[in-house]
Amino acid sequence: MINYKSYLIFLFGSLAVSIGLQMLLPFPWGLVAALAIFIIFPLFLRNRALKRMGSMGSDAGMGGGGFFGQGQGVKYICLACNNRFKGGMCPRCGSKMKRADF
Ligand SMILES: [Zn+2]
Repeated sequence: MINYKSYLIFLFGSLAVSIGLQMLLPFPWGLVAALAIFIIFPLFLRNRALKRMGSMGSDAGMGGGGFFGQGQGVKYICLACNNRFKGGMCPRCGSKMKRADF
């Protein structure tokens, strides 16, 4: 699912970047920034993989949000217009920015 080789390349790249950050930033912040990169990038990669899966599969599968697995029962609240809806996209304004409503 995730391209392992590009992940490795990134890992070494971010290692270099994080070493650079240690030199550029004062002590705690260089470490924090480096950690943030290590944490955020895998999430970013996974999101991209999920999106790719979504575009290959049906729109309904993507609308389920992938994240929660069960999908269908989850309602979302549009962050742009506060409309409550089901599915991947706000039917009122078309925004994909949403949060789950439990
Ligand atoms: Zn909306």
